[in-house]
Amino acid sequence: MSSDWLVLKFGGTSVSTRQAWENIRSILERRQREFPRSRILVVASAVSKVSDQLDGLLEAALQERHLEVLDRLQERHRLLADELGVDFELLCDEFRELERVSTGVALTREWTPRLKARVMSRGEFLSTRLGAAFLGVAWQDVREILTSEPEAHAGPARHYLSARCADQHDPTLVDRLGQSRVVLTQGFVARDPAGDTVLLGRGGSDTSAAYLAARIRAHRLEIWTDVAGMYTADPRHVPNARLLRRLDYSEAQELASTGAKVLHPRCLPPVARYQIPLHIYCTGEPELEGTVIASAATDEGRVKALSTKSRVTLVSVESEKMWQQVGFLADLFGCFREHGLSIDLVATSETNVTVSLDGSEPLEHGALERLELDLARLGRPRITSGCSSVSLIGNKIRSLLHRLGPALELFEEEPIHLMTQASSDLNLTFVVDEEQAPRLMSSLHALLFSASDDDPLFGPAWRKSPTTPVQATWWERRRPELLALQTELPLYVYDSETLRDNVSRLARLSTVSRLYYAIKANPNQDILRLFGELGLGFECVSPGELERARLLFPEHNLLYTPNFASRADYEAGFRLRAQVTLDSLEPLELWPDLFRERELFLRLDPGHGKGHHKHVRTAGPQSKFGIAPAELERARNKLEELGSRVIGLHSHRGSGILEPEPWSDTALFLAEAAEHFGGSVRVLDLGGGLGVGERLSDEGLNLTALDEVLQRFQAARPGFELWLEPGRFLVATAGVLLTRVNQVKTKSGKTFVGVDTGMNSLIRPALYGAHHEIVNLSRLGEPNAILADVVGPICESADVLGHDRRLPVTRSGDVLLVATAGAYGRAMSSSYNLREPAHERLL
Ligand code: PLP
Repeated sequence: MSSDWLVLKFGGTSVSTRQAWENIRSILERRQREFPRSRILVVASAVSKVSDQLDGLLEAALQERHLEVLDRLQERHRLLADELGVDFELLCDEFRELERVSTGVALTREWTPRLKARVMSRGEFLSTRLGAAFLGVAWQDVREILTSEPEAHAGPARHYLSARCADQHDPTLVDRLGQSRVVLTQGFVARDPAGDTVLLGRGGSDTSAAYLAARIRAHRLEIWTDVAGMYTADPRHVPNARLLRRLDYSEAQELASTGAKVLHPRCLPPVARYQIPLHIYCTGEPELEGTVIASAATDEGRVKALSTKSRVTLVSVESEKMWQQVGFLADLFGCFREHGLSIDLVATSETNVTVSLDGSEPLEHGALERLELDLARLGRPRITSGCSSVSLIGNKIRSLLHRLGPALELFEEEPIHLMTQASSDLNLTFVVDEEQAPRLMSSLHALLFSASDDDPLFGPAWRKSPTTPVQATWWERRRPELLALQTELPLYVYDSETLRDNVSRLARLSTVSRLYYAIKANPNQDILRLFGELGLGFECVSPGELERARLLFPEHNLLYTPNFASRADYEAGFRLRAQVTLDSLEPLELWPDLFRERELFLRLDPGHGKGHHKHVRTAGPQSKFGIAPAELERARNKLEELGSRVIGLHSHRGSGILEPEPWSDTALFLAEAAEHFGGSVRVLDLGGGLGVGERLSDEGLNLTALDEVLQRFQAARPGFELWLEPGRFLVATAGVLLTRVNQVKTKSGKTFVGVDTGMNSLIRPALYGAHHEIVNLSRLGEPNAILADVVGPICESADVLGHDRRLPVTRSGDVLLVATAGAYGRAMSSSYNLREPAHERLL
């Protein structure tokens, strides 16, 4: 029998402002009206980012910088207290405790997990003290109602920082909650049987709420967060993702465990145990319907969602001896246990076992190397990092295999490292290269979930729901100016402010001494003029690019990286005073006189390409670019013979890379290669390839993180200048393609919006399957009402600018805007079909 309690949990962003607390107040009032006989237990997290700051406090104390961190924390809470009209003095005890502990750490120069738990728990105490005063409700110390259950072999880190609690119903607990109708308590925190404060680990507030709901046998648990529920895919990456109105516990568990971030997987078993319905809602938009997780309503099989996890590492062991060898797997798995590594997926054959390690918890330094050594006793181990898993989730997934045929065709292009099927029949998982996962997710989603599917299981698409965070882009702000260009369509338009902004963001990288703009991304003369005036050098790949740059800027630095070039091409490089980079040793043998007594750069192949599509990965055995590391000795001898010197090494792995690590990997690789040239190399040119988000909601490469990894490199290998030569990053977001709608046609239920230019102006969607956001600029802000392919007038089936796009009702004459088109747009255009590509204009 469930009790009359209701448990509501609010996460960090839901408790960080006055507006957020007012939303909580009105949600509580509404629930009190809807459930007049219920009492409500509210579980709250710390204010957004406070847990991270507290996490860093003890490290800061080791360097005696804790008072700065404490000041920032006090300031943050003082502002919130003022906003809420609550007396800041309420928090004095908490801050005193923080000061006491961190000062102790600064003196003793050490901290323990026990102290860390004491410090980090303060975040929740601070937020709930303020919240309870603002709402005028009872405040409850969660440590009096939630006790951890220590695990037999857990070390102190697990005991204090990632504790587990009992989830059996405890009828006495309700009495301890007093008589108030609403009680506010802390998430993430509990105590151990000895009375010490402990934390519940990542996602701990959801878990606290679930434990408490189970222990008081609440009749309902609500998790209030910043999205409206669980979706058919992560809506930040798949904007057409549809809300899932209902899931059963095991499906939700599977989704959470395979990467969906809305709920922590640990919060599901306690509610499943007592069949407590768990509702997810969005605090900012409480009227949205949300997702309910409850017992299965039907057992019909269907794919309900896609999920993905990055930072997956695969470990495989090859051995002919494992066939019928009793205990082989036990020995193998024993090695993982030995090194504290938890296994996620498993696939076996007669001669190979491959498992994946989940990257959600950081691996201990050196753990993989030690594991590899150990596994070598059993067979030939191989470790592949930088993978992602993509999972299809749903009940009875095996019964759906025949329907997945078209979806699986996608894997023809890209290798699958591993495929597993859950024995629970709830998921089918593929492990692929990390950079393939986003594209795979959106293609699989488009194949498996139609935006027009009217199955009541699916709610509105994220894009359709009014919660979509619309970031005001330059083209939204400048819409009237863009629409005034109607007579010039089709037209590429570039925004000089965004171009400048992109340059200054890169110029802030503390580790990079020089920036060269890779002209190939967009050789528009006005853009080159602007970049030259802002002090950028130019990276050129042909005599044509060199001449254009020299004509505009007689004295600017030029880099020249041609490939499979002729003698005349190289001559142009020297004549136009560019720093020439050799991409092969062949020219030294063909035209030795040309390269005699020169200072040269060499382009090296780091052996593993990266990028948003295989056509833009410019390294690795299949790639035509660069000199293999095995040829470095030959290069040195050859250059010595000619009296020439290598002063720089260069490497460009590919284009559209969104993680920072490839650049520090490249730097390390080049620094090691530099050792072959006896100290003559002073520049490491890390190439371009800095990625931008394809979707408006995507964040692109994090430059702070890039600077950090390069700082680490410079600390380890000082003495080199680092150069970058980005193209896309500088221009992509600054450009849009404006095109007019010629016709709108519906054929066999499918709608095509035909515009006045296509692959002749923008070939990226056809060539790479690249995604460009498309909006109807004439009707910006009108609700989306149709789902259409946006196609050009070229006689090719591939002439599609965007598949399955949501648009408002669109008519002939409307202006469509294709976003993020400043890079490799006009530059790769053609007059195919003798249709002139779009002209250009810089605003
Ligand atoms: N440098 C070299 C040698 C390149 O080949 C490229 C692109 O292909 C770039 C720089 C610029 O790449 P991105 O536009 O991705 O920054």
